[in-house]
Amino acid sequence: PVRVRFAPSPTGPLHIGGIRTALFNYLFAKKHNGTFILRIEDTDQNRFVEGAENYIEEALKWCGITVDEGVNTNEKFGPYRQSERKDIYRQYAEQLVASGNAYFAFDTSENLDYYRKDHEAKGKTFIYNWHNRHFLSNSLSLTPEEVQTKLDAGEDYVIRFKSPEDETLNLKDIIRGYMTIETNILDDKVLFKSDGLPTYHLANIVDDHLMEITHVIRGEEWLPSLALHYQLYDAFGWEKPEFAHLPLILKPTGKGKLSKRDGDKLGFPVFPLAYKDHKTGDVSLGYREEGYFPEAVVNFLAFLGWNPGTEQEIFSMEELIEAFDLSRVNKAGARFDPDKTKWFNHHYMQEQYNDDLARMFKEIQPELAEIDVNYVELVVALVKERANLVTDFWDLSHFFFETPTDLDEKAVKKAWKDDSPEIMNQVIAVLDSVEDYKVENLQTELKGWITKNEISFGKVMMPLRLALVGALQGPEVFDIMYLIGKEETKRRIENLIK
Ligand code: GLU
Repeated sequence: PVRVRFAPSPTGPLHIGGIRTALFNYLFAKKHNGTFILRIEDTDQNRFVEGAENYIEEALKWCGITVDEGVNTNEKFGPYRQSERKDIYRQYAEQLVASGNAYFAFDTSENLDYYRKDHEAKGKTFIYNWHNRHFLSNSLSLTPEEVQTKLDAGEDYVIRFKSPEDETLNLKDIIRGYMTIETNILDDKVLFKSDGLPTYHLANIVDDHLMEITHVIRGEEWLPSLALHYQLYDAFGWEKPEFAHLPLILKPTGKGKLSKRDGDKLGFPVFPLAYKDHKTGDVSLGYREEGYFPEAVVNFLAFLGWNPGTEQEIFSMEELIEAFDLSRVNKAGARFDPDKTKWFNHHYMQEQYNDDLARMFKEIQPELAEIDVNYVELVVALVKERANLVTDFWDLSHFFFETPTDLDEKAVKKAWKDDSPEIMNQVIAVLDSVEDYKVENLQTELKGWITKNEISFGKVMMPLRLALVGALQGPEVFDIMYLIGKEETKRRIENLIK
């Protein structure tokens, strides 16, 4: 059975790259009737951020990505927080030392710095591995007694992996195919630190093994770690999962990796939910707060690196599960396109219930606090086909709620002619004559009057629209007149005549 995990480190908010990784894992799991696991990789105490774990859970929930196993859910392989699994890792680190695949190292950071600089001065790069581990301070260069003395004295140590010399590793990635790596260029990575905590590599491999993960699907930035991970599986004598490294997400220009900072700089969200930086106090809005629908976010994320091989672009979660296939994930970086995101949102906007949209609109627009939600709903129905976001609604519809004051100058020039006051006075008379003030009746009466008097349509409708909207855009004039009511309609026309 397929078992995959999403294994974020709670070091800050997930950005869309992280959510994309979670989504691809989820789609793959569901496609194969497998299990989607959420594991919290919080062993790096220095980078721990309060609230980040919560953020991750909320973000997944908002996207409709449900966790099958994780903290407080179906904990049969738990705990799912690495900080609660410390003792497990020590045991495995020691196992590698005992089997000769790892060793204690006591080098101080000053010493390592010294070697680094010394190498640099000679135009070389210092790599802690077979090249020079024999003269550094570790259990391969010291006698067992010396090592024991250091350990007994409580000296700081790390446990390093002993990367083999002169081997060729054949690595396999579902998306990238086969790759070979010479072990000679690999360094002896730190697996365990004297603070009793494992590094990412050890904890990650041990947990993937113990949690019976079958497929590791993660971002491309982890590809350089794959060689070490292969070696660790071999050193433990464990069967490896399959690996798939997802392509980078690139800036809208296509140049360089999309970063968390790009959002604020370029004016689009990069976080699923709003996030307050705990250090600066700055708040970045997320997709949710900017008025995006989770269905749209999921749909556009799915296309960051994957495509179905057909023309179809609109996919529900169920359809994505059905269509998803790791073999259709690209190697090349995926360009992030904020306009396309809006395009998706526009689509999902049309599928929302108007009463839901009205409630959302009311929530974000203080001007609507006192306005009846049913009225807002009628307005929303008229403008949503031109909106990408709920936050677009106000610009498209403010004149339903307030008398327009700043008239668009160009529109005035175009629509308001010498004979306009006279014509508008007559329009008021026509309105007064409409007995049952309804859209159809307004339309019939006004159009009938125009035809009968042989006035051009534009000479009536343009100034009328100008009076109602303050510009020459907006929904049908008759719909506006009906919704704002007869008295307000007349008042707006009279305002303009004056
Ligand atoms: N904790 C790692 C991260 O933050 C997990 C990488 C992996 O999936 O192996 O992305």
